[in-house]
Amino acid sequence: MSERQIAVAKKLRVGFYGITGCAGCLESVIFNEDEIVGIFNLVDVQAFPFIKGANSHEDLDVAFMEGLVASPRDLETLKEVRKNARVLVALGTCANTGCIPAYRHYTPLENYEHLIKEKEDDIKDVPPSPIDTHVPVDFAIPGCPPNGKEILEVIKAVAAGKTPRPYTAPVCIECRRKGNYCLLELGKPCLGPITRGGCGAVCPSGGFECWGCRGQTEDANLPAFIELLEQKGFSWDFIKRRLRTFVGQKTPDLEPLRRALEVEKV
Ligand code: SF4
Ligand code: SF4
Ligand code: SF4
Repeated sequence: MSERQIAVAKKLRVGFYGITGCAGCLESVIFNEDEIVGIFNLVDVQAFPFIKGANSHEDLDVAFMEGLVASPRDLETLKEVRKNARVLVALGTCANTGCIPAYRHYTPLENYEHLIKEKEDDIKDVPPSPIDTHVPVDFAIPGCPPNGKEILEVIKAVAAGKTPRPYTAPVCIECRRKGNYCLLELGKPCLGPITRGGCGAVCPSGGFECWGCRGQTEDANLPAFIELLEQKGFSWDFIKRRLRTFVGQKTPDLEPLRRALEVEKV
């Protein structure tokens, strides 16, 4: 047996962790009812909130981290896990972009200050930020929540000693494959053309426009898409809010884009 085969044959020490988030990403792991027991037999689960009583973050091969940094304690946990893990996977949109909890960067303080608890130091509020703002991340699984099957594929790939491949095509590809009516053509502000697929186009398949929870594709043509939405009658304020809802902290600076479009029109 080669050294690599021995390494692969040894069960991977895997941990699932959560900092500020809603636990929906972690639930997406568990909700793979048919396969989860088999997967958990494949790896050595060192930590999983709700499932294990004693959770460790020592000597990890792979750590999955849900949530974003919104308190000093979050940052401490994140750094501790990062220090002990060979591979760190950002699990879900909060971990990757800050998601809806980080939207407050774009909203006035009076809209949310009544929600901030500052009674104890360890829940003291700090500006919310995705995890790669603080530590290096090796792989990203997008989605709010992420697709459960995609999480399993990543676990299987790393357990087999392979590097998982990220899904790069836009939501529209899966949507058209399903034969859905195009909501954009019906005048709804669907972000499918600029959003990374892999979710099976779950929202448009149910009649709801895509809000972009899996983040933008690498080759998203934002100026062209903004122009298209404006032609359909959506205001700049509406477009800006929609683009920032899930990927706010990772959206390119929209104001210069908008100014460039204005100049082109003159
Ligand atoms: S990405 Fe969505 S599902 Fe996951 S923790 Fe954040 S809000 Fe919850
Ligand atoms: S409904 Fe949305 S995701 Fe589906 S094809 Fe139209 S724009 Fe793309
Ligand atoms: S269709 Fe869009 S909003 Fe819905 S899950 Fe997929 S990427 Fe997220």
